[in-house]
Amino acid sequence: MAEHRRAAAGRYVIAERWRAARSAGPPGHLDAAGCNVPSDRVLAATVEHLERERERGGYAAVPGLTAPRSALAALTGAAAADVAFLESGTAAMAALLGGWRLPPGARVGFTRSEYGSTLMLLRRLAAERGWTLAELPADDDARLDLDALSAALRRGLDLVTLPHLPSHRGTAQPVREIGRLCREAGVPLVLDVCQSLGHLDVTGTMATAYVGTSRKWLAGPRGVGFLIVPGLTEEMDAAAPTLGGHVWLDDPPRTGPLPGAARYESAESAVAARVGLGVAVLEHHDLGPDAVRGHLADLGATARRTLDGRGGWRVVEPYDEPTAVVTLRPPDGGDAARTAAAAAGAGLLVGVAPVARAPLDLREPVLRVSPPPGTRQETLDALARLLDGR
Ligand SMILES: *Cc1c(COP(=O)(O)O)cnc(C)c1O
Repeated sequence: MAEHRRAAAGRYVIAERWRAARSAGPPGHLDAAGCNVPSDRVLAATVEHLERERERGGYAAVPGLTAPRSALAALTGAAAADVAFLESGTAAMAALLGGWRLPPGARVGFTRSEYGSTLMLLRRLAAERGWTLAELPADDDARLDLDALSAALRRGLDLVTLPHLPSHRGTAQPVREIGRLCREAGVPLVLDVCQSLGHLDVTGTMATAYVGTSRKWLAGPRGVGFLIVPGLTEEMDAAAPTLGGHVWLDDPPRTGPLPGAARYESAESAVAARVGLGVAVLEHHDLGPDAVRGHLADLGATARRTLDGRGGWRVVEPYDEPTAVVTLRPPDGGDAARTAAAAAGAGLLVGVAPVARAPLDLREPVLRVSPPPGTRQETLDALARLLDGR
């Protein structure tokens, strides 16, 4: 019981510290899964780096990013050399899968909750390279069926891709079990952690590669994505060689990738945004990933209880799912985009997941409510009244 009270107090402290670290932000912000609000220190670090670039010259103002790389990698149990920064989660996935030399006939397992841009990428690569895409069975909540995964792994897969937490529904995959099954079968797992890093526990998964983005639950600046690749193999290189990530070799003439994940980076980048992400990741460690996680699970459960049934909108995922992505199906005649616009008019920022976000899983657009840490009950109550049409 004392343990429980301590945990509850810890979560309260997270809310207070999160709010104290932000002197501004949109009122009624309930869209952390879309784009979170960076802290004052993240914003200051980003701007200060731009100022240094102007004062010293861009090439002279080189920041030290090793500590941030270590801190980011640690969220998955990996190391600094495993991290490559790119400009988005989508770009990171394209660099990873586009450069992976799977042979023709290779079988790639995926789920119906796969993210829209990853699905488009997989389809293109399959068509061009003769890969076969194998959909892995999942339950009504789109949670992977572990027995079916075991069977598919036994039948033969060369790669599995999976969003830990999708963008369009709040159910998280059992990634430790999935990671263990893939590892035992010797099949590389690519885990999309765009919605889970900074939100859920990603350690112990032992994936070959993780694909993430800055602006969501890590609350870094926009315009940065990343790969964390602890399981790099000979078959893995960037989709295109770059001067930042490769060396020119003369004999025989070819390009050689740099060791580690550096091969996925190019020489030019929005350095200031990476500096900002670094500060955001250090702040996340400082708050305590466990405590943030507990706080977000509470917020998700509270939001589901507060919103379910209001104006006929129904929560899609189980109430006690330990995530702060809450999705709502419209009532007859309801429309997620129209309701999100009405909410914006009332000072409430919510998201919409259109069908294209997960075309194999979504039948109609859903309203997505994703409260950042520190969200107050009043904000959720105001949204509930809006859904009621009052
Ligand atoms: C946002 C998101 C992506 C893509 O990340 P971008 O940075 O927007 O390119 C991929 N997968 C999931 C599950 C996401 O939520």
